[in-house]
Amino acid sequence: MISLGIESSADKLGVGIIDDKGNVLSNIRRTYKPPYGSGIHPREASEFHSSTMPGAIEDAFQESGIKPDEIDLISFTKGPGLGPCLRIGAVTARTLSLSLDKPLIAVNHPIAHVEIGRLVGGLDDPVVLYVSGGNTQVIAFSEKRYRVFGETIDIPVGNCLDVFGRNAGLSDKENPMGRMIEIEALKSSNYVSIPYVIKGMDVSFSGILTHATRLFNDKKHPLEDIAFSLQETVFSMLVEVTERALAHTKKEEILVCGGVAANTRLKEMLDEMANSHGVIFRGLNADLALDNGVMIAWLGILMKQSGVSTRFEDTTVDQHFRPEDVDVTWR
Ligand code: AMP
Ligand code: MG
Repeated sequence: MISLGIESSADKLGVGIIDDKGNVLSNIRRTYKPPYGSGIHPREASEFHSSTMPGAIEDAFQESGIKPDEIDLISFTKGPGLGPCLRIGAVTARTLSLSLDKPLIAVNHPIAHVEIGRLVGGLDDPVVLYVSGGNTQVIAFSEKRYRVFGETIDIPVGNCLDVFGRNAGLSDKENPMGRMIEIEALKSSNYVSIPYVIKGMDVSFSGILTHATRLFNDKKHPLEDIAFSLQETVFSMLVEVTERALAHTKKEEILVCGGVAANTRLKEMLDEMANSHGVIFRGLNADLALDNGVMIAWLGILMKQSGVSTRFEDTTVDQHFRPEDVDVTWR
């Protein structure tokens, strides 16, 4: 079985093709870049996706050497994500499904991150820390569903880093904002106090963002000290919640995914925590850790093989689609 997956939940457009043995046949990604100094505008990102989609699909077929009629399945991200962006992926998937006469599977985006991590990370049953520009969740499989054990109650951690970086005037054409903050943080080891906000199993970043921005505006501390302290604080919070989920579920593996998972300091802290419990820790390479079409295609295969089919009328998008709303038929 060969599956083509379309990912378009945020700033990245991904078209991936994978077979049922887990061989990645193509992984095309195009990233919408907002104008200097601003964040993602959903309508503008969706316009980028619609204009880029035909070329990305063509490239995916070309890279894979697969012909359209050799595809057995089309999958797409149903949610969560930005409505206008999700709709471009859904409409494209419906069109491909109708024109090629292939079944269509609607996929939950965080679960796709987990499943591609299990596949390429060689993991069986990890506790997953999913940290990106649009999501912050600690997810683990329990009683037939992927459950969210902890999450942000306001903004995602990547968004906290991005907005702080913009407020502090950081910018770079090549590097994502989180990487710019990481580079600043590497210059310092002076910890400036920043609130540490965990509520139950959940984390909160919006007050931290305000606090860090105020520290910057006060001009009493160099940016590198604030960047270092911000990283130490928010990553410690994430590691604490992940550790508690690990202790609760008694699992033996930890996976980190999403754009913030590129951060060396976060991985170092997770690795140290994993070692202290004698469990395995894995990250993924950027090609599959960031939003991509391959993970959507792969979850489509798992769902299809376990007998799931999405009725055409259920191929709408859901901006707030939760992992625990999916009946996990493939595990
Ligand atoms: P995603 O939403 O998965 O595409 O990931 C994008 C997020 O990852 C943005 O918030 C980036 O600032 C963040 N990011 C990328 N590289 C790094 C890094 N090295 N350290 C921290 N955050 C990063
Ligand atoms: Mg993602």
